[in-house]
Amino acid sequence: MHTFGHSKNRESIRQSQATTLCCYNLRTTTRPLRRSSYRVEQVGLVTPSISKLKLFLWKILHGALPTGENLQKREMLSNTVCPQCGQRETTLHLFFQCAFAQEVWLQTPWESTFDSSQVSSVVDEHAISMKRRLLPPTGVTINIFPWILWFIWLSRNQLTFENRKSSAADTTCKAIQAAQEWEKAQPIVTPRPIHLPPTPSLQDLPEHTIICNTDGAWRSDSLAAGIGWILKDATGEIDRGGRSFLFVSSAQMAEALAIRDALIHASTLGYTSIWLRSDAQALITAIRANRRPTELYGVLSDIASLSSSFSLCVFSFCPRSSNGLRTQ
Ligand SMILES: [Zn+2]
Repeated sequence: MHTFGHSKNRESIRQSQATTLCCYNLRTTTRPLRRSSYRVEQVGLVTPSISKLKLFLWKILHGALPTGENLQKREMLSNTVCPQCGQRETTLHLFFQCAFAQEVWLQTPWESTFDSSQVSSVVDEHAISMKRRLLPPTGVTINIFPWILWFIWLSRNQLTFENRKSSAADTTCKAIQAAQEWEKAQPIVTPRPIHLPPTPSLQDLPEHTIICNTDGAWRSDSLAAGIGWILKDATGEIDRGGRSFLFVSSAQMAEALAIRDALIHASTLGYTSIWLRSDAQALITAIRANRRPTELYGVLSDIASLSSSFSLCVFSFCPRSSNGLRTQ
């Protein structure tokens, strides 16, 4: 992928790129311990295995995580305050009510708003979280709740045991990346072979058909994407536009977002017949075959419904070199 212009939040995300996150395996013993004497075992993985994540969630839901409050109950520690803000470290405080945790949840691109300061029960919140979804560009369709908890816990441990502070934006970004990685690693059902109708030439299309070229750029390190589109008719360029997105799951998702934006715009301008061309060949094939990979499901569904609002909507592949959209 090529690069694109600056986006507002790039800097904050870039700060996090050098951060290496590690998983910790806290070996608790029944002996009274000081916090500094906890053995912290560095495993060297950012993404927890799903069984590890389940165990971690179970511990939170059953109040079994070694938070300051729980350690105090077991008379294990004298210093049991939140390392972020100095307040009493209860499970609710650590994961939802601390200003740091609130910021992590706030940075998460939810479909609907979520104010973590209102959470009063982790168990209830876990149940509610099953219905909460991230915006389609993230490509995350699973419940991200345990992943966010995990990375808040990781940030807390880094600060407690290594005196390393992560930003809330970094913590959110890592949680989304980990969920994306997990989702991508799931086995894909092999699709049946398909037979597509041939792409028409412009002469075959109605006279008032407009041509729309789209392009997307994506950065795997920051999950930022930039998109662009250009509309033309027989006389030349009609309009062009573009914008940037955060927390985009893949290059293909960026290309899909470009197509979706272009269709929305063409529809707003009142065009009814459109020939849309993208350099994302696999994506165009998926759209033409009405195939929707899980990761792209939300955006491809939008594209399908938008395209049905045109009297004619043709999708075809067009190499980037000839799409007139060389974004910088
Ligand atoms: Zn706090």
